[in-house]
Order: sequence, then C-alpha cells, then structure tokens
Amino acid sequence: MALCDEGYRCDRCREYVEDIRESELYLRYVLGVVPAEELPREPERHIRCATEFAQFIVDEGFPPVACDDPALDKKGLPAEVRAMQERIFTRAWRRLQECFESAIPMDEYPLRAEDLA
Ligand SMILES: [Zn+2]
Repeated sequence: MALCDEGYRCDRCREYVEDIRESELYLRYVLGVVPAEELPREPERHIRCATEFAQFIVDEGFPPVACDDPALDKKGLPAEVRAMQERIFTRAWRRLQECFESAIPMDEYPLRAEDLA
C-alpha cells in the first residue's frame, strides 16, 4: 500500500502536497473562503506554488515567495492594502501550522473575523 497514492498532487507543479501545512486549499479553508464540504472537490496545490497568495506570508518559518504574475505582485499594491493582506495571510498560515501540530477539530480550523482584525 502506497500512502502517497492517496495524496493529492499540486495542480501547478504536479508534486504531492504532503500535508495541510503546505496546502493552499487548507489555507483558504482557514480563511473561511472554502467551506468544509467543498474541500474534496477543490483542486489542491502548494502554498508556495500559489505565489499570488504566498507572497503575503511573512514569517521566519516560511521562505519568502515572489509573485510570478506581475499584475498580482504585492509591490503594485498601496502600502496599507499590502500590510493588511500580509497580516491576514500570515495569520492564516500560522493557524494552519498550529492546527497541524495540535488536536484541534477540523471544523474549528477557520479563523474568526476577530482573529483577523
Ligand atoms: Zn506545487
């Protein structure tokens, strides 16, 4: 039995997404963008491969990613919008690491509005 055969491949680089810590789908779930019932139907990809989101994660534990689409590059955003996006995505990424390492039930993964304020 090969466990990896049951995993999901990234729809951008085609490598396996090993666990939720590197899953852009779960990052969006934590953000409340994807409802739980849609998780099995949505495409999976690495956070680092979704550069339009990954560029906003600013944490020592996450190697910085530059956006590969010039139209979506955070450098083109007003400073306050960029700061807000960085706060939201970094918070969500940290939440994802925390969820993976603890016994938090999956329906409690999503951040509440006050967590993002
Ligand atoms: Zn990938």
